[in-house]
Amino acid sequence: MKEDFYDILGVSKSASESEIKKAYRKKAIKYHPDKNPGDPKAEENFKKAAEAYEVLGNKDKRSKYDQFGHSAFDGSGGFGGGGMNMDDIFSQFGDIFGSAFGGGFGGFGGGGARRAKGSNLRIRVNLDLIEIVNGVEKKIKVKRKIKAEGVTYKTCTTCKGSGQVTRVTNTILGRMQSSSTCPTCGGSGQMISNRPSNSDANGLISKEETVLVKIPSGVEDGMQLKVSGKGNDSAGNGIPGDLIVLISEMEHPTLKREGNNLHFDLYISISEAVLGVSKEIETVTGNVRIKLEAGIQSGKILRLRGKGLSSINTYGSGDLLVHINVWTPKTLNKDQRIFFEQMKENDNFIPSPDKSEKSFFEKVKDMFS
Ligand SMILES: [Zn+2]
Repeated sequence: MKEDFYDILGVSKSASESEIKKAYRKKAIKYHPDKNPGDPKAEENFKKAAEAYEVLGNKDKRSKYDQFGHSAFDGSGGFGGGGMNMDDIFSQFGDIFGSAFGGGFGGFGGGGARRAKGSNLRIRVNLDLIEIVNGVEKKIKVKRKIKAEGVTYKTCTTCKGSGQVTRVTNTILGRMQSSSTCPTCGGSGQMISNRPSNSDANGLISKEETVLVKIPSGVEDGMQLKVSGKGNDSAGNGIPGDLIVLISEMEHPTLKREGNNLHFDLYISISEAVLGVSKEIETVTGNVRIKLEAGIQSGKILRLRGKGLSSINTYGSGDLLVHINVWTPKTLNKDQRIFFEQMKENDNFIPSPDKSEKSFFEKVKDMFS
């Protein structure tokens, strides 16, 4: 059972934005790794508080959490949900503590130098509708930059590992001190000491790697998933960047997606419409048989509840809407022509829509109500 976010921060459910911010500030300072070196319990509490604030500190996320609890963020394979890394947490700090906190609070593990992060990799993944419905694990081949074998790094000689250079200038007002990112190491505090000839200037080489990406069900075209640490490695003791997976949705040959609903065009013959028929329909969870009553009208929409896609953000799932289209023959033989000629003035063939035959516009209205 996951701990309640409000309990973690020690605030009530009705706490105001500023109360939540204040509560998180207190926890972050108390459990900060720099204050509790080598204490895994403190680190865990630090991460928990950050995770709680990530949700409660955001209006949208908080209201989702209030409605659905942890399930609003779980099982979503990295969408806002679990698994913040220290980098995410520290990047959150800028908003909370402002620049006033700056200095001594910037880094993790002391030493002052910011840990460099490798660049992100981006890759597009094509998914078909069935994969989207069920969720899927994809093995993706990526070319990552990783440290070459035998590469070694040493403390940067320019900044002595601090990642910052300080310049002192004498002015009439006295000595002025200013600091900036070290130009030699780019702020990482480390520089290359020995690098194999096949590696680049940072001691990295390209290597093809297969990454397993878990894609949750219900994703949509254009969504992005982040796989932490599977981007390019960084030089020295920095951390690797992330792999950003862009979701691309392939069209299904017969089922058209609209949000969590699916649409299917079913064509039946005039005889089938007149006499009634049973038809097999393809759905994302297998085929289902539906019965069409004798006298069914073209344009009727049958709703198969729950046969759409399950939603990624909320509970429930969409429907499959079957649109009935009666196929009018385009050519007739002589007998058929005589038959239809005879039926022209026949009462049974003259349209007489009653109230149960809703117009197209009423049906559309029903669908969205
Ligand atoms: Zn340096």
